[in-house]
Amino acid sequence: MSPLQKTDPEIFNIIDQERMRQEYRLELIASENFTSFAVMEAQGSILTNKYAEGYPGHRYYGGCKNVDVVEDLARTRATELFGVEHANVQPHSGTQANMAVYFTVMDPGNTYLGMDLAHGGHLSMGHPKNFSGKIYRVIPYSVRPDNHRIDYDLVRDLAKKHKPRMIIAGASAYPRIIDYSIFGEIAKEVDAVLMADIAHIAGLVVAGLHPSPAPYADFITTTTHKTLRGPRGGIVMCRKKWAPALDSCIFPGMQGGPLMHVIAAKAVALKEARTQEFKDYQSEVVLNARTLGEELMNLGFRIVSGGTDNHLVLVDLTDKGVNGAQAQEILESAGITVNKNTIPFDPLPPGKASGIRIGTPAVTTRKMGPDEMRLIALWISEAIANRSNESVIGRIIENVRELCGRFPLYMNLDNGD
Ligand SMILES: *Cc1c(COP(=O)(O)O)cnc(C)c1O
Repeated sequence: MSPLQKTDPEIFNIIDQERMRQEYRLELIASENFTSFAVMEAQGSILTNKYAEGYPGHRYYGGCKNVDVVEDLARTRATELFGVEHANVQPHSGTQANMAVYFTVMDPGNTYLGMDLAHGGHLSMGHPKNFSGKIYRVIPYSVRPDNHRIDYDLVRDLAKKHKPRMIIAGASAYPRIIDYSIFGEIAKEVDAVLMADIAHIAGLVVAGLHPSPAPYADFITTTTHKTLRGPRGGIVMCRKKWAPALDSCIFPGMQGGPLMHVIAAKAVALKEARTQEFKDYQSEVVLNARTLGEELMNLGFRIVSGGTDNHLVLVDLTDKGVNGAQAQEILESAGITVNKNTIPFDPLPPGKASGIRIGTPAVTTRKMGPDEMRLIALWISEAIANRSNESVIGRIIENVRELCGRFPLYMNLDNGD
């Protein structure tokens, strides 16, 4: 019996149920992934016990000799991997990474440009109930109605009109390449700071499958748990000249002690991301997303922007007789996990939404490929078309279980013992 099982069987059992859910259901949420045992081992380690307010060499507590090495390794690996001058690996999440940049660059009431939330922006880019929408004045830009690509002309017009202190390039639900060179030009023209939020695409950037913002952006923020496949957390990177201000905005500005166990796990993930295996994995992620999108189009679905360049597809359900929320529920009952998502110019509110967002990072980690993507597309189509037919839904659940059994995740895998 494990220590957890003995101390708290309730939590132990629910973790076990969640393990079975992850093992036997198709995880298609574009922002999720499955970390390695090595990452989990670091994250579950005794480093959780250590207080280390401050930075390596300048801590407010004694006994930081070992954690200093850990944080230095994480920082060095991040700067090398992304080709940047400085990295801060302490933000507890992607939103806090963004907050750190806003605090560094802007005063309350300042103006910034960010992707419209309804067009794929993240809530930390100006949601009215988020700090980013409460403290600052946000001017949203959007995608073009004709091709659903970012409207760079609009970005330029808005930048000239509103003279923002900062421009953010980045999104949570945008299936296309983001052109950082245009964002860089615009930021120069209006003397604004450029921040690239690569939370979703960090793994693709590392693998060279999406252009890097490093030559153009003053700041780059990312999560570590999406395509990067590390522990849940954030990283901020910047040019040298911003480093002291950024570091002091994070500590003591925003948070107390860093999560040293998570920083260790970030270091492990960053090391894994240097490998050829990781780059090959990212190529498979992109190939799988493209295959899934094409197959859904063959099955009569409209895909926002007509396809994808990255790890996700946005499916427009307008002519399918269901909204995004309903589709999410139907698919969940069939063993397939996706999230409802607004599509550009969506007439429905975000709680309902006209689309679903489907991502391939997690299923690709368990080594599924194009053949499996074609099956998944078919099951998505069948489930939505036969939503009130219990026997069809029941058959799909069985298909999903059988497929997951053929691509074991944590079950049957060598965990290093
Ligand atoms: C996921 C995401 C974030 C923040 O992530 P959390 O760790 O959930 O706070 C920030 N920006 C973008 C674009 C994201 O997709």
